[in-house]
Amino acid sequence: MWYRFGSITFCHNKHGQNNTVPTTKQNHTTKQQNTKITKKTISKKEFSSKNYNKIKKKIAQTYEKIHNILDYHFYKIAQRLTEKYQVICMETLNIKGMLKNSRLSKSIQEKSWHMFTKIIEQKAYEHGRTLIHIDQWYPSSKTCNNCQYYNDKLKLDNRIWTCPQCGNTHDRDINAAKNIQREGLKKI
Ligand SMILES: [Zn+2]
Repeated sequence: MWYRFGSITFCHNKHGQNNTVPTTKQNHTTKQQNTKITKKTISKKEFSSKNYNKIKKKIAQTYEKIHNILDYHFYKIAQRLTEKYQVICMETLNIKGMLKNSRLSKSIQEKSWHMFTKIIEQKAYEHGRTLIHIDQWYPSSKTCNNCQYYNDKLKLDNRIWTCPQCGNTHDRDINAAKNIQREGLKKI
């Protein structure tokens, strides 16, 4: 439970157990780069020419492949989470925040997020689990999970930080995951 999306780790729980999908990431980053190259090539082709249509088809195929890889992994992760946990708390996607430290394009991230949300909703329903969404404006990263101090100075690239109030050192994502859990459980 209490999962949070990160752009480096896919998602993890408050104990720091990761559900990272390195192969997927690697695969679809490579595919995305390929798509970029292909998109560059298509801009040089005459609109609706034979070559133009061929490249257009190739781009569509690449996107489909990315979609299928993600779909497969999302189902696997959603299955694992909903089998294991009674309550799952999810943070609503903050695409703006994610984009700053991600290698993935906005459209891929948005689509991936929506795909995963739909899949986990479906799986939670099938297993009779409670799925709680946390508002995207809740400062899960900047709040110390130990003393609730709000660290306004925390930057996106600060992966590890020490709370100036209580002195606890946090892994950014695990701290956020713990906050999401606490916020989520308040709603039950
Ligand atoms: Zn603190």
